[in-house]
Amino acid sequence: MTEVLSKQQTIELRKKHIGPSCKVFFAKDPIKIVRAKGQYMYDENNERYLDCINNVAHVGHSHPDVVKAAVKQMELLNTNSRFLHDNLVQYAQRLTATFPEQLAVCYFVNSGSEANDLALRLARQFTGHHDIITLDHAYHGHVTSLIDISPYKFHQLGEGGQKEFVHVAPPPDIYRGKYRENHPDPGAAYAEEVQTLIQEAHKKGHQIAAFIAESMQSCGGQVIPPAGYFQKVAQYVHNAGGVFIADEVQVGFGRVGEKFWAFQLQGEDFVPDIVTMGKPIGNGHPMSCVVTTREIAEAFGASGMEYFNTFGGNPVSCAVGLAVLDVIEKEDLRENAIRVGNYLMDLLKEQKEKHPLIGDIRGVGLFVGVDLVKNRERRTPATAEAQHVVHQLKEQNILLSADGPHKNVLKFKPPLCFSVEDSKFVVDKIDEILTALEKATGARVGNGNKEVVENGVCKRKAPRHSNGVPEQECVNGTGSYFAGTACGQESACHTDNHVVSCKRIRT
Ligand code: PMP
Repeated sequence: MTEVLSKQQTIELRKKHIGPSCKVFFAKDPIKIVRAKGQYMYDENNERYLDCINNVAHVGHSHPDVVKAAVKQMELLNTNSRFLHDNLVQYAQRLTATFPEQLAVCYFVNSGSEANDLALRLARQFTGHHDIITLDHAYHGHVTSLIDISPYKFHQLGEGGQKEFVHVAPPPDIYRGKYRENHPDPGAAYAEEVQTLIQEAHKKGHQIAAFIAESMQSCGGQVIPPAGYFQKVAQYVHNAGGVFIADEVQVGFGRVGEKFWAFQLQGEDFVPDIVTMGKPIGNGHPMSCVVTTREIAEAFGASGMEYFNTFGGNPVSCAVGLAVLDVIEKEDLRENAIRVGNYLMDLLKEQKEKHPLIGDIRGVGLFVGVDLVKNRERRTPATAEAQHVVHQLKEQNILLSADGPHKNVLKFKPPLCFSVEDSKFVVDKIDEILTALEKATGARVGNGNKEVVENGVCKRKAPRHSNGVPEQECVNGTGSYFAGTACGQESACHTDNHVVSCKRIRT
């Protein structure tokens, strides 16, 4: 049985019993999903949706090998890790084999947030320092310690949101950031910003415990760090006695294709001190892990405080984790990520020739961003247009999201079984939507100065956005755009004819 309640009953019960800050996608007209397979999800009427955003269902929704592994172990035993069990050590061995040699010690936990919280503890215990350097617009998790180091969240608190032990570095964004693609060495320039933060912290008597960053920023707008950035940052942070934490919660496990971990794209001469992972690790089963060096693990142990986690590393989770690794290999999903990702990027690049709304296409493997702009020269974020595309795609049973500080970056991070046919299908639909949008607004390609939205532009400040987000604009003078500032909060574009739900979709 897939559906017990009517959709309306589900909505009503949810309103009654679920905390109001737990939002659904497309709040005005939410989708009820009752089953899923591969890269497709099905609603209560058996309508099929193409899932372009689910980086949790990494090897495909409900993959039979993963399901079988879980059931088989559940039938036999599930318990905590205080007993010896082969699954735990076998999984730790398999997982660490995907890393450079020095990253050899695992702590199993249950969510990305737990992993990052533990990473902070490891860093602080090892270094004896407290302060954290984080990237602007970063999101690292929902627990108190991580809200503190997630500008994506604490910016919403306005003045006073940033704690004094937190130092915010500019994201190494060569499209929209301070140093761009025409800079001779943007990696070094962005790393220099981190060095300056370290020096400023020292002047105030603060000491750096860690620099934390996603290996490629996801919520931050699909930012791919320039070559050499991580190496230089690691050097500065190590000189300051801190450690480098790479958050691979969204981008790990072969999503980038060429490498198993996205940090490895920076080159073999870069190895983080701590790596955190989550989402794809269990293909939907809640599990996570922190991997670190023996030296850091020993220092953590030396505190004398035992680390115990009731569910972390239980035999079922480890069986699931092993099955996910098997499927990635057996189905050559990294190769698929390269092949399909390249094809998707090529199709999108063709669209860029055609549509002035597309400012930038960036990505690696099946982690791809399409940066929509009103003006190519000024790179003005086309926020309302991105939300419009997301909404229109949903009407055509395609699930895509828009993210980044301006919520104007269309974000692809599908299950790794995504196909060339899926890519063609979604890009054709984007083409249709952009064509209609540009027709309505009179935009032309090849005129860098021409605003995509010329008439009836209304401007208003994005509420409570303290991070330099420019005025937002909306399509249609009679409408208004309300910037949703919370990760996972809904925002809406109201126009004459309809209210477009502008939910920031993130899984
Ligand atoms: N780090 C990153 C980069 C994330 O995107 C997320 C979740 N979106 C987390 C950490 C937190 O993971 P979880 O929701 O599993 O706690």
